[in-house]
Amino acid sequence: MRITAIRSHVLQTDMPEELGYSQQYYARRTAHIVEVQTDEGITGWGECFGPGTVALANKTIVEKVIQPMVLGDDPLDRDVIWHKVYNLLRDHGQKGMPIQALSGVDIALWDIAGKVTGLPLHKLIGGAHRTRVQAYGYGMMLKRESTAAHLARFADEAAAIRDMGFAATKMKVGLGAREDVKLCEAVRRGVGEGFDFMVDANHCYTTSDAFFVGRALEELGAYWFEEPVAPEDLDGYRALRAGLKVNISGGEAEFTRWGWRRLLEAQGLDIAQPEVCALGGITEYLRVLALCHAHFVPVVNHVWGSAVAVATNLHLLAAMPPMPGGLFPREPWLEFDTTLNIFRDSLLTEPLDIQGQVARNGGWIAVPDGPGLGVEPDRAFLSAYAFAG
Ligand SMILES: [Mg+2]
Repeated sequence: MRITAIRSHVLQTDMPEELGYSQQYYARRTAHIVEVQTDEGITGWGECFGPGTVALANKTIVEKVIQPMVLGDDPLDRDVIWHKVYNLLRDHGQKGMPIQALSGVDIALWDIAGKVTGLPLHKLIGGAHRTRVQAYGYGMMLKRESTAAHLARFADEAAAIRDMGFAATKMKVGLGAREDVKLCEAVRRGVGEGFDFMVDANHCYTTSDAFFVGRALEELGAYWFEEPVAPEDLDGYRALRAGLKVNISGGEAEFTRWGWRRLLEAQGLDIAQPEVCALGGITEYLRVLALCHAHFVPVVNHVWGSAVAVATNLHLLAAMPPMPGGLFPREPWLEFDTTLNIFRDSLLTEPLDIQGQVARNGGWIAVPDGPGLGVEPDRAFLSAYAFAG
């Protein structure tokens, strides 16, 4: 079996309203779907992390840099292909876009392996520790509005996400440390006591501002405090984890086993959030997962993007061993963005209908059981939203 072509499908659409997080506002949604074709008619699908014009740069890496390296290779030689590409790109980027591009190709190779063997991805990895996964719903994005308007909206949205059936909810912060504490108080009021909420700073704080917000989160009983400081600031992570009772989480901006090794050795994480569509694909994710568990750091995957990314993560969460084991271990959650996302909800020939499942099944989502990822993008949809840049 041989690889005959690799295609990137970059999709883009205007969003119904502008949304924001601590680094920027954005008004368009992008997805980057990778298609690997073979001489036996089997096609694999993958996805690369990276919004907007970053997706166009990654498409160039996928099609112009990686494709010529692996044309004619056996797609079942996933680990060989991974190291061939990594070793040839190492001098040009051990993190960031080259690894995001490799991620989408690697995921597609796993999809092919599943289709060749007739096995779902979670079975290829080693089997399902769970056949359904509970989701947490994030929302509460920033908008160009006053702090007072944010406060009212965040309380309402938090309650609405709880009422949709999600297991927990997650909010953005980024208006400034003092304002952000008020936003967190509003979310606690919105969800009431006894419901988990998490706070995502997208690395907007200095360590001292992160301590100011983190101490308030201790009082409010927040479950985790995500990316409080810059991903390069390993000293900041270590100080925050040692000094705060709230769980410190992060890792979505880290890449490969070598990046994760340093992050874990810094001892700054209570919860690890690897992004499979960025850190090097499934092949590398499995090594990062083993590294996290070797450090006794539980993993709750970072999930972003289209239905291909969501399906990939459902398999990975199913195949994740409990850490530590127990009669009633804390189970990993699926991260789910509750804002409108047509690339997640309408891309597939058979949609996953995550929100419908959450509403009907008390927050639980079934793990796909078809071969490979178990999902097929609709080609007419891919064409309709193609983004040339
Ligand atoms: Mg995040």
